[in-house]
Amino acid sequence: MLRQILFFEIRYQLRRPATWLYFAILFLLAFGFLSSDAVEIGGGRGKVLKNAPWVLANTTIILTAIGQVITSALVGTSILRDFQTRTHELLFTTRISRVGYLAGRFGGAFVAMLVVYLAIPLGALVGSVMPWIDHDKMLPIHLANYLHPFLLLGLTNVLFISAAFFAAGALTRNQFVVYTMGIFLLVAWSVTGQLTRDLRNDWIGALLDPFGIQPFTLATRYWTVADKNTLLVPLSGFVLWNRLAWLAVSGGLVALTLGAFRFRAQPASLGLRWRHPKLAVAGVPGGLGGDDRPGITIGSRAAHAAAERLATAWAGVSGAASRGRQLLAVTRLAFASMTRQVSFLAIATVGAVNVIMSAWFANRMDQVTVYPRTYLIADAVVGGFGLFFVILLTTFVGELVWRERQLGADQIQDALPVSPALHLVGRAAGLVGAMAVLQAVLILAGIAVQTVKGYHEYELSVYLRTVFLIEFPFVLQYALLAFVVHTVVNNKAVGHVLLLAWWVSLITLDTLGFEHLLYQFGVRILEFPRYATFAQSFPNTIPFSEGIGFITEADKDDAGRDLPFMVTAHEVAHQWWGHQVMPAGVQGETMLVESMAEYSALMTTEKEYGRHAMEKYLRAELDWYLRGRGTEDKRELPLALVEGQGYIRYGKGGLTLYALRDYIGEDAMNRALSSYVRKVAFQEAPFTTTKDLLAEFRAVTPDSLQYLVKDLFETITLWDLKTDTATAVRRADGKWVVTLGVAAKKVRADTAGAERPIPMGDYVTVGVFGPKKAKDDALGEPLYLGKHRITAATSRIEVVVDRPPERAGIDPYHLLIDRNHKDNVRDVERH
Ligand SMILES: [Zn+2]
Repeated sequence: MLRQILFFEIRYQLRRPATWLYFAILFLLAFGFLSSDAVEIGGGRGKVLKNAPWVLANTTIILTAIGQVITSALVGTSILRDFQTRTHELLFTTRISRVGYLAGRFGGAFVAMLVVYLAIPLGALVGSVMPWIDHDKMLPIHLANYLHPFLLLGLTNVLFISAAFFAAGALTRNQFVVYTMGIFLLVAWSVTGQLTRDLRNDWIGALLDPFGIQPFTLATRYWTVADKNTLLVPLSGFVLWNRLAWLAVSGGLVALTLGAFRFRAQPASLGLRWRHPKLAVAGVPGGLGGDDRPGITIGSRAAHAAAERLATAWAGVSGAASRGRQLLAVTRLAFASMTRQVSFLAIATVGAVNVIMSAWFANRMDQVTVYPRTYLIADAVVGGFGLFFVILLTTFVGELVWRERQLGADQIQDALPVSPALHLVGRAAGLVGAMAVLQAVLILAGIAVQTVKGYHEYELSVYLRTVFLIEFPFVLQYALLAFVVHTVVNNKAVGHVLLLAWWVSLITLDTLGFEHLLYQFGVRILEFPRYATFAQSFPNTIPFSEGIGFITEADKDDAGRDLPFMVTAHEVAHQWWGHQVMPAGVQGETMLVESMAEYSALMTTEKEYGRHAMEKYLRAELDWYLRGRGTEDKRELPLALVEGQGYIRYGKGGLTLYALRDYIGEDAMNRALSSYVRKVAFQEAPFTTTKDLLAEFRAVTPDSLQYLVKDLFETITLWDLKTDTATAVRRADGKWVVTLGVAAKKVRADTAGAERPIPMGDYVTVGVFGPKKAKDDALGEPLYLGKHRITAATSRIEVVVDRPPERAGIDPYHLLIDRNHKDNVRDVERH
């Protein structure tokens, strides 16, 4: 029996035009992305080639995540079909077993979903071989690069999506729940994105993302151009745990469905009684109620009342006044019938939750806490609901246009003394009114978030302008487009799909890193409006954008880095680096200006906040550099030859100069710098280059550390440092003996990021730390800091400290470039 149902279901699904329509959409998106620049999903820019394994993986998971919104109907309907056609009561009288029925239906739908989603690798493959594309910008075709991400991430996603929609359909027998859940899943993805942006709780976001996008992004965030072009996504770490978790969830959902589903005419009670409204139209047979179908709920009392008012208006005679009354009545009916619907409320609620989440995180910028100024919250309100407007309008415009035809009442309507134009205008007005009310509610949500955060400068005019003057015109445009599409395309489902496909093709998911404009700003500080976000140094003024420092909550304990302080220090430092030292316009020029200013800023910050506070500043520089090199579109150059890349001249530059200072000492560093400035300040042509500065560095660096100048400035060198064990034993004299088991590797990279190992013989900082002084200091007060020479792949290090150690490890301040910098330090096990 199971087999019959299974094969019947597969045959049925594969014969449906909708199945192949979904297939075509996904195929065209993948095909369009690979074969043209018109579709931008999944990245692939500069030197990262379009069919690189990383890009193909990114495209696969993003398309499965977005695709589930439109394909939800496929699985949902496999079980809803029997209820919609009302054959379920008949079916339940047969000898079909419950499990056989469910497993057959689910299996069939799952196979159909797999067929639909195979369109992604297939479309990508076909797109890659099109004759018109530039094959120099593509890798040779390796089937594994196309199939691996589908098998690893796509397949598990399809299984989860199928299980989730099947469970929702079987247990609630309600298509709205099925539709709304797809949106819930998108919101989950977006929320996990917010979580992973903060390095402190990224693993939570990585685990909770149902589609595996966040763990994939985390696992590959420091991949270089060469890595992205050659490596397959490894099934380990974040990715592995995420996939296992969601496989378990999928299994749980299937088991739940098999266990809880009953052959009963009514759905299992899940508190969904609101799905049975009293029918307002008396005497209408049950079938017409159609409360399982979207949008034609004609049930609520309010809608009934509005309908009566409409009838009263119709009863009047012609004339401008009565036309006005009719218009008002149609508008009110459209407004009421839309806003009283559970589906409308459900989508709006999910959207509002997303808005509140976005607003909640809106004052956390790049690991710095800023005041929840109204413009930030208003932007979050607008950004957080954009997708939901698209969904609401796509769905409800369809319902408004199609209602009479679905109810079979269109001919009655044609006979009424109300012109079709008036109907259309009235409905559009009702729709727009509903959207406006929704916008107002969202503003209130934003104000609530500000209030909870203890911020009371609400600036209502900023809200109103952002929401109604900037966002609302787009909503109106889309509503108009939806009306036109639904009126012209004479099929509701096709209209929906067209609108959603249009939207999907519009969004460009820029997952490829991001430019930090924060430091593109380069003694008096001048505030200027946030039409640009930079600061710059002039001989006696520093123009400073209101968007990048004035709103920082710098006095908070866990506010992250004090950027106003550091940025100001950076700009002031340009009085030396840039104003006195003016380098030649050759490779390395910006190291002498920007890296030096960034170094001066780090040093000033250290003087102000103490060395223990520097970990987060250096980690941010390291993160900037590591993310940036993965998006390099020409070639990565060593710092001394930098050609202007921000991630090198600021991120790597500041970190590397700080590291040199740490190794050779501040006195030696300052001797080199003051000697250099004396020689080259205010010079005439020929101007100075990095060669002159490196010569000064070499002159003050001891022989044992000369290798550092080459490693830090003249080559691209990376380390992989790790603390495997950290234990401490209390001696009889009260001191603590700390023993570390550490691992160390060193590699050199070429300009595309391809690495080769080189021998390790380096001095590395060993640190032991006590209690934390501030909430967000990752390390705590140093009890011991010293340089130890590490030559082996693994070694044991022993140091003695006076007080109880809490954390210990190697290279705790991230002075050496290390992609796995989170494992440098660990908690000490005290015995
Ligand atoms: Zn600068």
